Amino acid sequence: MREFGETIFAAMSALAERTGAINLGQGFPDTDGPAVVAEAAIQAIRDGHNQYPPGPGIAPLRAAIAAHQAAFYGLRFDPDTEVLVTAGATEAIAASLLALLEVGDEVVTFEPYYDSYAASIAMAGGVRRVVTLRPPAYDFDDGELRAAIGPRTRAILLNSPHNPTGKVFADHELRLIAELCVEHDLIAITDEVYEHLVFEGVHQPLIGYPGMRDRTVQISSAGKTFSFTGWKIGWVCAQPALLAAVRTTKQFLTYVNGAPFQHAIAAALDLPRSYYDEYLADMATKRNRLCAGLDAAGFNVFEPAGTYFVTADIRPLGFHDGAAFCLELPERCGVVAVPTVVFYDNVEEGRHLVRFAFCKRLEVLDEAVERLSGLRGGKR
Ligand code: PMP
Ligand code: GLN
Repeated sequence: MREFGETIFAAMSALAERTGAINLGQGFPDTDGPAVVAEAAIQAIRDGHNQYPPGPGIAPLRAAIAAHQAAFYGLRFDPDTEVLVTAGATEAIAASLLALLEVGDEVVTFEPYYDSYAASIAMAGGVRRVVTLRPPAYDFDDGELRAAIGPRTRAILLNSPHNPTGKVFADHELRLIAELCVEHDLIAITDEVYEHLVFEGVHQPLIGYPGMRDRTVQISSAGKTFSFTGWKIGWVCAQPALLAAVRTTKQFLTYVNGAPFQHAIAAALDLPRSYYDEYLADMATKRNRLCAGLDAAGFNVFEPAGTYFVTADIRPLGFHDGAAFCLELPERCGVVAVPTVVFYDNVEEGRHLVRFAFCKRLEVLDEAVERLSGLRGGKR
């Protein structure tokens, strides 16, 4: 595992801390989620929910997850046999890969990919095969996807809405992925942590596509949706046999986590639709503000259809190496961004791209843009 080193997000947050720069690197909001949800956690601690919760997660949370799936997507899951609470989506992804891969099995995923995918596939003894998403729309080539699937392929690991590109996979793309899963008898592991951050289009869970209900492990997390990323409450939904395999693995990773937070997230999932609408509208305002600012500062901006990240090409500003650019950015103008090259196997594809998080207060985004606007015509 040594090749993986420190995660880029931790490294960039440490850099922000050290330099006092504005942190548009790691994706966490700079304001907390709803006060009623925080109060529910405090109340749960006062009520004595402080010992190990049940292995699969507390019953009210599993019921709330199943109800959320039914309400938003018309998907039905049995909370007792088809829902598992995990220590964030990160554990859900790792447990799924560890549970379902044999050593040497291949996993197809799209690059740029979320950093834990490569590490978790490696920990499970798997081999990753990547299909490149290319700007401006971050489309992929159907032929590349077909070519990535071979006799050792066991699973497709899909993230939509997609970090870091902000791509929301379109219906025809999901249809193709589903068809290929059925044709080649593959499992799909879907990371849907940004399911409620879709500005254009709609989020369609892959598990709802023909032939996918029994071969998909669907993953999400409360961290992004309710702005409590530090609570690490995530979940897995899948048919009973797949879920049992993931649950068995999960037992020996963390066993359980976050008893009082599980109670609070059960309450959060009970919030009215207006909560989700307001959250999305707030994030859309932030997206528009940062995209416009980056554009005015001279970046080539690829406006995201979803998530709270935007990627941009630095070449119009006269830079070519995103990694060097991001390392120097705090000193140069007091802002931290993430070089997306670290999420590529084919590094040439991402060398000149950087990612900014816009889940920050408007005044923070404005100040960052003000600072970045000095890049144009500045010294290299
Ligand atoms: N997947 C993606 C695409 C992410 O951006 C993140 C970061 N939140 C995670 C998984 C991990 O989620 P969690 O914090 O719930 O472990
Ligand atoms: N998901 C967050 C991001 O992409 C980071 C989470 C982490 O630091 N592992 O920025």
